[in-house]
Amino acid sequence: MNTHSSLPIAVLGAGPVGLAAAAHLVQRGFKPIILEAGTSVGANLNTYRQVRLFSPWQYNIDRAAAELLTRAGWIAPAADVLPTAGEIIDDYLLPLASLAEIAAGLRLQHRVIRITRQGIDKVKTAGRESLPFVIRVETPEGEQEIVAHSVIDATGTWSQPNPLGANGLPALGERQVADRIAYGMPDIAGSERGRFTGKRVLVVGAGHSAAGNLIALAQLAEEAPGTQVVWAVRGNNLAKVFGGGDADQLPARGLLGTRIRQLQQAGGLEVHRNFRIHALNTDGGRLNVVGEAVDGRVPVIESIDEIVAATGARPNLEMSRELRVRLDPWLESTDALAPLIDPNLHSCGSVRPHGHRELAHPEQGYYAVGAKSYGRAPNFLMATGYEQVRSIVAALAGDMAAADDVQLELPETGVCSSRPIVGDDDGSCCGTTPAQATQPAATSAEAGCCGGKAPAGVDACCMQDADEKAKGNVGCGCGPMKPAAKPKVSACCA
Ligand SMILES: Cc1cc2nc3c(=O)[nH]c(=O)nc-3n(C[C@H](O)[C@H](O)[C@H](O)COP(=O)(O)OP(=O)(O)OC[C@H]3O[C@@H](n4cnc5c(N)ncnc54)[C@H](O)[C@@H]3O)c2cc1C
Repeated sequence: MNTHSSLPIAVLGAGPVGLAAAAHLVQRGFKPIILEAGTSVGANLNTYRQVRLFSPWQYNIDRAAAELLTRAGWIAPAADVLPTAGEIIDDYLLPLASLAEIAAGLRLQHRVIRITRQGIDKVKTAGRESLPFVIRVETPEGEQEIVAHSVIDATGTWSQPNPLGANGLPALGERQVADRIAYGMPDIAGSERGRFTGKRVLVVGAGHSAAGNLIALAQLAEEAPGTQVVWAVRGNNLAKVFGGGDADQLPARGLLGTRIRQLQQAGGLEVHRNFRIHALNTDGGRLNVVGEAVDGRVPVIESIDEIVAATGARPNLEMSRELRVRLDPWLESTDALAPLIDPNLHSCGSVRPHGHRELAHPEQGYYAVGAKSYGRAPNFLMATGYEQVRSIVAALAGDMAAADDVQLELPETGVCSSRPIVGDDDGSCCGTTPAQATQPAATSAEAGCCGGKAPAGVDACCMQDADEKAKGNVGCGCGPMKPAAKPKVSACCA
């Protein structure tokens, strides 16, 4: 750890997890500096402020933040109510950011572009850990550098949406028609209603955001005849999109999938499964969306007016390029988290408790937390981030007992099925034998998530599984382990 303890700890991003980190730091007697790109806190949530979240307030408020707020006379919202993203900002994040101890360190319109160590680049080892971090930011007054003792990077992923191309690259022609594509969750029923009314709209994606967009468009189609809703998914099996329904421990999350299933069954959706977008062509003012060839046939979705891309997001890795970060090669998550959250294997929505140890990087004193720690993996919940930052701040304060006492109980999706994922949209994870792996996945409702025979050395896929294994019983297992990281080789000369 660098010896510049008089320097502030920098928190990057003032979303729910960044502000929670700030609250924990304040509680531990630190004076953090919080660098936020937006003009206000919760800038990413603000892009979908109309969306009602699926987790109630009880999961959305950090404990340290609540303690600071309550001391200042704040009344907590009812625990069982589902807030909108806008209410998270207005009723929680803004009051938190206004507390004197947090406001003192909050710098809005400070976009972090790079992080490094003072006076050295990534290659240099000697003395590295004793040097402060240098954070370069873009501000309305130009570029500046801020020096910090440690860095908690909570910049999320939402501002870096994945492109439409199924191969991870922008589809051919995607950039040229960017004005016809809304990434994320536009306000379909509100401020952007005119954009979609009476149009043939294609929604791309198979997650909760896609589901929310489809539901909003279906509502619009009922109110505004002529509006057509088209849905393209890469996979063939919609089980994961439809979700766990009544089995979801967050009923609002389960309901999203249930409503999509009902819409599909009622014929209100034109669904294109197994559709892997390759190119977008304009044709008489409308768009033809071209898929990758399947069985020698090139599928095309014709005459689209607008596209809503809900294809997930990815972290900004450029920011930490001068730091020694260890990321999972395919998820771009913090490496140690990957086996716990890989969507190829997990669909439960829960994650094993983890804290400062799993979140540490070779660059001592740098932590990526919150949605960013998950990289491209979905299913991050705020409650996970709150426990992450509690543990990290305890470690930074030298309270290792508290730092190591990580506890996390998350509501599960009810989709924790028993076989590895075969296609993009198959839910699965547990208790696999090679023979089972060739059969279609089954959801937990059919097969039960846990309690099967646990292959040795396999990580828990859901909380019950973790609990069972902790008690020495067999859990469900989660398919094959990733290859272990190569052991670190010590230097042969100075
Ligand atoms: C549509 C949707 C619905 C969701 N619903 C739920 C739910 O019901 N329950 C739940 O628990 N989770 C939910 N999540 C998941 C997750 O909890 C949220 O995404 C949450 O906002 C993540 O918090 P965060 O602080 O890690 O990141 P963010 O909220 O994304 O915050 C990141 C902050 O960093 C700032 N920033 C970004 N780049 C920079 C930079 N270079 N320099 C400085 N600042 C920067 C951003 O402006 C932003 O303020 C949902 C996510 C989405 C997208």
